[in-house]
Amino acid sequence: MALEPLAPETRNYIDGRLVEASNGNRFENVDPTTEEVIGTCADGTKDDMLTAVAAARRAFDESEWAENHEFRARCIRQLYEGMLEEKEQLRSIVVHECGACVSLTGYMHIDDPIEMMRYWADKAESYPYETRMSDIPFLGAQQGRILRREATGVVGAITPWNVPVYLNIAKIGPALASGCTLVLKPAPDTPWSATHLGRIAAEKTELPPGVLNIVASSDHLTGEILSTDPRIDVVTFTGSTATGRRIMECGAATVKKIFLELGGKSANIILDDADLGAALGMGAMCCVHGGQGCAIATRLLLPRSRYEEGVALLETAFRNWQYGDPTNPAHLQGPQISKLQQERVLSYIERGVEEGARLVVGGGVPKHLDKGFFVEPTLFVDVDPDSTIAQEEIFGPVLSVIPFEDDDDAVRIANNSIYGLSGSVTSASDERALAVARRVRAGTFSVNGAMWFHPDTPFGGYRQSGLGRENGEMGFEEYLETKVIAVPAQG
Ligand code: NAD
Repeated sequence: MALEPLAPETRNYIDGRLVEASNGNRFENVDPTTEEVIGTCADGTKDDMLTAVAAARRAFDESEWAENHEFRARCIRQLYEGMLEEKEQLRSIVVHECGACVSLTGYMHIDDPIEMMRYWADKAESYPYETRMSDIPFLGAQQGRILRREATGVVGAITPWNVPVYLNIAKIGPALASGCTLVLKPAPDTPWSATHLGRIAAEKTELPPGVLNIVASSDHLTGEILSTDPRIDVVTFTGSTATGRRIMECGAATVKKIFLELGGKSANIILDDADLGAALGMGAMCCVHGGQGCAIATRLLLPRSRYEEGVALLETAFRNWQYGDPTNPAHLQGPQISKLQQERVLSYIERGVEEGARLVVGGGVPKHLDKGFFVEPTLFVDVDPDSTIAQEEIFGPVLSVIPFEDDDDAVRIANNSIYGLSGSVTSASDERALAVARRVRAGTFSVNGAMWFHPDTPFGGYRQSGLGRENGEMGFEEYLETKVIAVPAQG
């Protein structure tokens, strides 16, 4: 598919202006499919981050942003319209800098996420910020109470590289809609997916200076300022569990509200009455986007009674899986984001073999692709549920197949994880599948192929997959404080 030629914004957006880094430095942006440098980006410094935080603080404390719900909705609608106008440029950016397959840009990366901005504009206006609670007796008299929800303050948002435009929108949308102001620090691998939004904000909206700030940087520690600076009230972070732990630690000193969307190791459970042909025909779907999705089910639980039948179907699915050039609309798997990630995935594969899992398909770098950070779709079976490849998030196109004895055993194995983000179950009986879904400790679950993804679905994890929920009304309320004002009773 032909993509629009790249013409991204490569400057940061601070206090209403598109700016170079204060020391003039830039860092390279590499296309993971071609391994070529496709351009550079302003390399935000710690000083730039401090300037952005000061601007966001000022905009929150000294403007009517938090209180003028109609104005906020108008600005967010302008952002939405601007993103619609720039949709093809954003698509081109995400294919080039993230290696996203064009076939996935409609759903995961661009079109659906942009529509979410409209949802947030509507929410800014329609949310009931003040409601009256019932009157209560106090010392013989009746008292009234107003329940007020108000913007928490300045948000520091930190995002990863795997679905960058979507995740940036998932932070910017609800934070601005709630009346907060925001400093966004995107991942160094995908800076333009954020900086281009800065150009849209600067050129196509009435957003007041400082309300939205975008600071790309090659240095992860530039982002750490967002978890330590006392002027930040909320940190919303999507990324690895290891970084999430660090952010919690750093945020503790100033008791920040910390909201975390972290890793996953979700289970796809196939019960013994399932139509295996239908359930496993697309068994290599875990390789979608190179397996670089937090909610992808990377453990497949097969009933012992039908284990070999299931493994044979999976082997066929993996051997027939088409992948490679992300601009080929038939592909759902492109490269890993970087050489580093490619090597990390390959080292997990080595570990799987060392720990005794049976490697059925893949396991290396594809021979038919002479460049790009690709990894072969890899199928491991007979995986010990306690082994490294069954426990740790690989973030690559690697499936670990684990046998189970009965439904109780399947639930036990699914719950044998530090994570609890998502999962799925397939059975001939919706009721039986639903009974299993209710018992798995995870924030989202799919029964018999049904999908939950929607702007109003709260998304997030149990256990070490995170704290809080993104999207939907619950996601919006993560950015609100609660105040109760006692007033005379209404009479
Ligand atoms: P990462 O944790 O390495 O980095 C994420 C972001 O944190 C980047 O912007 C990075 O620069 C920044 N960062 C790193 N160290 C920091 C520090 N000390 N202080 C502040 N910021 C810091 O994660 P990644 O490799 O970019 O992304 C992959 C991870 O993201 C996977 O674990 C995946 O499961 C997770 N993820 C989760 C969700 C979800 O919604 N639960 C969605 C997408 C990705």
